[in-house]
Amino acid sequence: MNSRHSLWLLMFIIVGVFAGLFVGWYWGAAATSVAWLGKLFLNTLSMLVIPLLVSAVITGVTSIGDVRHLGNISAVTIGYYLITVVIAVLIGLFMVNLIQPGVGISTEGLERPDDLVQIVEERGIGDILLAMIAPNLIQAAATTNLLPLIIWSVAFGIAIASLGERGRPAAQFFESFNEGMMLLVSWVMYFAPIGVFGLIAGMFGAAGSTEAFVEKISAVGLHVVTVLSGLGVHFVVLILIMLFVARQPLSYLVNMLRAIVTAFATASSTATLPLTIQCAKESGIDERARRFVLPLGSTVNMDGTALYEAAAAMFIAQAYDLQLGLGQQAIIVVTATLAAIGAAGIPQAGLVTMIIVLQVVGLPLEGIGLLLAVDWFLDRFRTATNVWGDAVGAAVVDRYVEKKF
Ligand code: ASP
Repeated sequence: MNSRHSLWLLMFIIVGVFAGLFVGWYWGAAATSVAWLGKLFLNTLSMLVIPLLVSAVITGVTSIGDVRHLGNISAVTIGYYLITVVIAVLIGLFMVNLIQPGVGISTEGLERPDDLVQIVEERGIGDILLAMIAPNLIQAAATTNLLPLIIWSVAFGIAIASLGERGRPAAQFFESFNEGMMLLVSWVMYFAPIGVFGLIAGMFGAAGSTEAFVEKISAVGLHVVTVLSGLGVHFVVLILIMLFVARQPLSYLVNMLRAIVTAFATASSTATLPLTIQCAKESGIDERARRFVLPLGSTVNMDGTALYEAAAAMFIAQAYDLQLGLGQQAIIVVTATLAAIGAAGIPQAGLVTMIIVLQVVGLPLEGIGLLLAVDWFLDRFRTATNVWGDAVGAAVVDRYVEKKF
């Protein structure tokens, strides 16, 4: 897709967002009748994720060749993930301490979210490491459990690269498989304006009347302001990293907007992954960077989620009038980072891993009740931030690859 084409498409996608907002606002619940358009788009994207991810990671690894270079790229990637996620959490904590959104919020009548607690108790923090290896790869693919698939693909990529000549046919097969997948993605992208329209109209339609929506938001209004302003600041920090560390022009952001808006509409980093890779490819990001960094980032690098979890935990503490000192806030930094790494790239996954943060700091789990009504809304913004963080990560690694090899 040439750049004029992609700009047109971006404009149509933005028209889709506004048309969706208008239809959702104007028709209310009746707008859910166009939700199937969004579902169709979401399903089509999700259908591409597994084959695209496996072939991208394998070819990403085989194109790096030397395992030592892979080690360097992994170190830069993981370093980037960790630094940016900690910056995000610190921004979240700063905002929540500044705005104090929880002060004066009533916690009466809140109930313990047993269904969510059960999910977390079945999958505790230690399981995050265990979950890296799946006993059954097909089952991992069927449940979109990406981490084991990525680990397997990296290992397999290393194996066929180590085979030398004998491994070449397999490498070539995945290379051409990946090209085919990317062509499919570029076709699906043309459907994005209508898909985004359907998703947004459906989501606002499902939220009920505009008054009910505004009422829910204003009940925890300052919490929404805290999270949105924190995410806004982090988005700008990422732009600065893009400009000064990755040395990409602003047009990189414009190019990535198709993926960022899709992330907003789908609330899923995983479903957006095909578009993120496609936009990065069109921006000229080195294949070694985009094929490796983006799939991994879509499941472990979640700046928006980490910021949200830290801010929400403090919000709950304030609502219950519990003072958290610096030590406990430091624990929040660590647990929010881990919880964001452990969250899957699917809608509202952050709300579930939020329980881990509350449990570790010893905050009342009932507090989750304060977040439920607006979580689906804030999820959109944190997912968009997550995808932007991945895109900047690919640009940083691209610069590193360009300079070093
Ligand atoms: N929906 C987010 C994502 O896919 C995860 C979350 O914060 O709930 O990136």
